[in-house]
Amino acid sequence: MNLAAGHPNGTAAGVGRPSGDAGRPVRVRFAPSPTGHLHVGGARTALFNWLFAKHEGGAFVLRVEDTDVARSTVDSEAAVLEDLRWLGLDWDEGPDRGGPYGPYRQSERLGTYREQADRLLSSGLAYPCYCADEELEEKRRSAMEEGRDPRYDGKCRNLSVAERAACEAAGLQPVLRFRTEARDVEVRDLVRGEVRFAAAMLGDFVIMRSDGRPTYNFAVVVDDALMRISHVIRAEEHLSNTMRQVLLYEALGFDAPRFAHVSLIVDRDRSKLSKRRGATSVSEFRDAGYLPGALVNYLALLGWSPPGDRELLARGELVEAFDLERVSPAAAAFDEDKLDWVNAHHIREEPAALVARLARPFAETAGLLEEDEARFEAMVELARPRVSRLSDIPGEIDFFFDGAWDYEEEAANALGDKTSRSVVLALLERLADGEGALAAADFKGALSGVGMEEGVRGKDLYIPVRAALTGRTHGPGIGEVAELLGRERVVQRLSRALEM
Ligand code: GLU
Repeated sequence: MNLAAGHPNGTAAGVGRPSGDAGRPVRVRFAPSPTGHLHVGGARTALFNWLFAKHEGGAFVLRVEDTDVARSTVDSEAAVLEDLRWLGLDWDEGPDRGGPYGPYRQSERLGTYREQADRLLSSGLAYPCYCADEELEEKRRSAMEEGRDPRYDGKCRNLSVAERAACEAAGLQPVLRFRTEARDVEVRDLVRGEVRFAAAMLGDFVIMRSDGRPTYNFAVVVDDALMRISHVIRAEEHLSNTMRQVLLYEALGFDAPRFAHVSLIVDRDRSKLSKRRGATSVSEFRDAGYLPGALVNYLALLGWSPPGDRELLARGELVEAFDLERVSPAAAAFDEDKLDWVNAHHIREEPAALVARLARPFAETAGLLEEDEARFEAMVELARPRVSRLSDIPGEIDFFFDGAWDYEEEAANALGDKTSRSVVLALLERLADGEGALAAADFKGALSGVGMEEGVRGKDLYIPVRAALTGRTHGPGIGEVAELLGRERVVQRLSRALEM
């Protein structure tokens, strides 16, 4: 019996365009377990699903896998959702917004797992197992020690009615085990090609715990089937679960989705990505000053490459170019220098107002408070070609704030000699009498006037002025800096430099 045929068909809300091969509408999901922060690996999995859904005009579903009560927390669910939102990976259906196949939190679907488990129980494809954990553990241990197969020995597989009744009468709470067949399973993975799983890998495995909660493999199959997921795109570490899942799809009479197992992300030295080496979670990257668009761009390149080997892509370009065929089965190395390079590009290229909005908390943490949004944006505009992280911005704009900076040694030295002082003095005289706003062009005009008058050119002209206005010898265009400082401050700073 194919129960999938009895499901509501693909006209419900939230279903996408047919995927071509199986003719099913494209529906993908990201299924985080809310047991901590969203890590780069999880973020990359979410991103590939999101890109695939957007590219195919399909639906992206968010499902929270919180049946591990001991490790799942409400805070961590909220944090994962916030990180996904920050990355701009919006979902069409999910725990916070509902959808036609909800609820989208596994802890709210226990009745559904029970129902599906009962179907397997009544067809004899699952059976109650009363073995105690200690007994199973003991058997596993001695089997390993003696070099025997540690799989479940099938003790409860064929209990008689009377034996079951006796266990029940003794008050034993059974788990439910799936009755596996001794046959190999083959799966065509969209990233890894033909994958063969040997029958010997599998014993009768638990699908429902004695407390009524499903195991991961069972819940994920029930949910993916009932949520009409067409493609399961997830981390390689789940590849070995796929065999169990494929058998469960068959037993339940559901059509299996297509599978795509994405490779691991490793360190540059090919070891497991570790916290020791730096940021590993999305919130750490946010706090370190990366733009969501940059992280999305960089994560997309971990295991996927667009045609033509372009590396700097805006979100829309990623959506346009993404396909599973170009996802590589090889492990992808995380390279923070490259991420910095991608970030620098995005800081320069993304809309100025967005970059300013994201830079603001970094400035405020550094004590640089500017209420005038347009003025702050203008500062960021001058700083952004010069930084690779938002956290570098405060150090590039602090001189706009009185009292937040001091003269660097090189700048103080540059103000020490006679020529410098006469340049500064001459400029001060030209500007002090003026009134109103000081446009960049007028400032530059005044400065070249001073140059002619004093017979000073190039660095000898610019460096003392820059040093007087900003306390340093390098920085963005001095005319633009002066305009933003305003006439009054420029005059103050020129006079202050003369007093040094
Ligand atoms: N909750 C699982 C995890 O976080 C999801 C695995 C899957 O995508 O099937 O790893």
